[in-house]
Amino acid sequence: MVRAVKLSAGSDLRETSRSQVVAVIRAAGQIARIDIAQATGVSPATVTAITAELIRAGLVEEVSPDSSQAAGRGRPRVALRVRGPAHILAGIKVSSATISTILIDFDGTTLSEHESPLPEARMSPEALTRQIVDTLREAAAETGREIGDLSGLGVGISGVVDVPEGLVHWSPSLDRRNVALRDQLEVALPMPVFLDNDANSVAKAEQLFGEGRGVRDFLVVTIEHGVGMGIVIDGQVYRGTRGCGAEFGHIKVHLDGALCRCGQRGCLEAYVADYALLREAAVTHPGLRGSTPEERLDALFGAARSGERTALSILERASRMFAMGLANLVNIFDPGLIIVSGERMSHDFLYSDEVIAMMKTQVLQVDAPPPEVRIHKWGDMMWAKGAAAYAMEGVTELAVRRLNDA
Ligand SMILES: [Zn+2]
Repeated sequence: MVRAVKLSAGSDLRETSRSQVVAVIRAAGQIARIDIAQATGVSPATVTAITAELIRAGLVEEVSPDSSQAAGRGRPRVALRVRGPAHILAGIKVSSATISTILIDFDGTTLSEHESPLPEARMSPEALTRQIVDTLREAAAETGREIGDLSGLGVGISGVVDVPEGLVHWSPSLDRRNVALRDQLEVALPMPVFLDNDANSVAKAEQLFGEGRGVRDFLVVTIEHGVGMGIVIDGQVYRGTRGCGAEFGHIKVHLDGALCRCGQRGCLEAYVADYALLREAAVTHPGLRGSTPEERLDALFGAARSGERTALSILERASRMFAMGLANLVNIFDPGLIIVSGERMSHDFLYSDEVIAMMKTQVLQVDAPPPEVRIHKWGDMMWAKGAAAYAMEGVTELAVRRLNDA
């Protein structure tokens, strides 16, 4: 069984530099050695040595200079790019009703997307493992491949995940606590598995493919059924010590406030999550139409849009709480950028111009503009792509480690 590495822990300097070099080349698309040296702070001589190793290992290749460059003055610079076919990575996002799977190659190009239904929202670890293996087999078969052709799998799951240990302390998708899910998956699959909290997968996707490209410090706030968060500091996803950092939904916004699903009171989620909105609506709108929570939410949004006063007051309170939560984040992290990300178009009241303006009045006022807020709507497939990106990093580190051992 291949052991997943503890990413960026215990790596020696050369190893870290190799990973950095690959990351810079991938981010740039194509880049000359001298520019890699500049971007990484690694000396040009070391960059030359590292890229020679990476080329030998088949991870990176030289691109012949194009003719327009060649026609210019001086010797054209040879650029490097990541070799797409070097590895195929899979990413999976486990949602309450579906498993979304994406296959990407080593330079991040999407090869296929696959979605399969989950029979139950909450499953035993064994049943979820079987579902993931079956889904992966189907996704690989769709592109004429087998599971054995994949070099690594990233899995994003909501809940509290101890990433180095591959342990899920708690997840709404699992019927048990403290599950060694990564190990279970690695027993069932012939590849290393990289397990992460799904909000961290989004942060990774934003960093590699989205609004976070080239931004050193940023926060991603996700709006799904609850609210989540990913923290990127100095180019690294920050995961906390026990794997339960960045629980934006459970920051306290009200002393002795509304009861949260976590059992505590006054959490942000207890005011803005779907269940919180419906709990309020049950008091004022007992006849709200719809057999599912989604339908009842739609009815609530519809009532608010038509100007119905109590429906509006429910959404307005949620918005004010959300703005306060965002302001708390800014006051702690002072990020350059906040990306509000998710696919819940219907929840646009949470990131309206009014909410962002309200947030800005509550952040510490200094003689510099407040952080930029960007809204990025996307679906489950981008969460899956983030998980695949995490696997891509992990597989890169493993490949680099193998070079080291060679
Ligand atoms: Zn809570």
